[in-house]
Amino acid sequence: MRFKNQVVVVTGASRGLGQAIAVAFAREGANVAGLARSDLAETGAKAKAAGGEFIAVKADLGQATQTEAAGLIAAILKQTGRIDTLVNNAGIILRAPAVDFPEADWNEVLRTNLSTPFFLCQAVAKWWLTGGREQSPAGARLKIVNIASLLSFQGGILVPAYTASKHGLAGITKALANEWAKERINVNAIAPGYIATENTQALREDTRRNQAIVERIPEGRWGKPEDIAGACVFLASRDADYLNGSVLSVDGGWLGR
Ligand code: NAP
Repeated sequence: MRFKNQVVVVTGASRGLGQAIAVAFAREGANVAGLARSDLAETGAKAKAAGGEFIAVKADLGQATQTEAAGLIAAILKQTGRIDTLVNNAGIILRAPAVDFPEADWNEVLRTNLSTPFFLCQAVAKWWLTGGREQSPAGARLKIVNIASLLSFQGGILVPAYTASKHGLAGITKALANEWAKERINVNAIAPGYIATENTQALREDTRRNQAIVERIPEGRWGKPEDIAGACVFLASRDADYLNGSVLSVDGGWLGR
C-alpha cells in the first residue's frame, strides 16, 4: 500500500504492459487513471480487484497536440486533484523496409511514441511547477516513467520509425531529468526486453524467430508484463528518489550479452 492516496496516470492501459502496470499500482493502493482508445473495463475490474481505484480515460494519443495533451491532464486533475506519477507506456510499432517506409506511418509512430509522451510530461510538470508541488504532501516528488525499448540502444530491422521514437524517448528522459531533478521531479525510463504481449504475438508464433530470441536471452524465456510492472513501481517509489535520467533495461540479460 505504498501508493495509497496517490494518483498514477498510465497511458496504454487497455492491455499488455500498461494493464499490468495499472494493476501493480492498484495493488499498492493507488488511484489509477488509465488511458487508451479502446475499452478499459477489463483493466478497471482487475485494478479494483487488486485493491485500488480506477478511472478510465478514452483518448487517441496518436493525434494529440500539445493543447490536447494539456487538456487530458487537466481533465484528470479535475477528477483527482493531484498526480503523483505519470507512466508513458502507450506505443505502436509499424514495420516496412526503410526505403519504402510510408510517411503516414512514420508520423503516426513518432506522434504516439515520442511527441505525445513529451507533451504529457510537459503538462504534468507544468501543473507541478505552478502549484501542484505546494499542494502535495511535504517532501513529495513527481515521478515520470517512460516505457522505452531495447531499440533505444539498438537499431532493429524494418522498424526505423519505432527505433527513432524510442531513441528519442530515451533522449528526452535524460533531457527532462536534467532540467527537472532540482524541482523534485524524477524522470526515468524502462527499456523492456522481449515481453509476451499482443504486440509480440506474431514473433512468438514464428517458430524460427521465437527460438532464436529465447536462445539469446540469458534468462531463457520471454518476459512477462509483470516483470516490467515491478520495475515501474520501483521507479515511481521513494526507493528511487535518487534515480534521474536512467534507462533501466529489464530484459532478462539481453543487452548485456
Ligand atoms: P500492446 O499490447 O500493443 O498495447 C499497447 C497499448 O498502447 C494499448 O493499451 C493501446 O491501447 C495503447 N495505444 C496504442 N496506440 C494508442 C493511441 N493512439 N492512443 C491511445 N492508446 C494507444 O503493447 P505492449 O507490448 O504492451 O507495449 C507497451 C509499451 O511497451 C509500448 O510503448 C512498447 O513500445 C513498449 N515495449 C514493448 C515490448 C514488448 O516486448 N512487448 C518491448 C519493448 C518495449 P488501444 O489500442 O486500446 O488504444
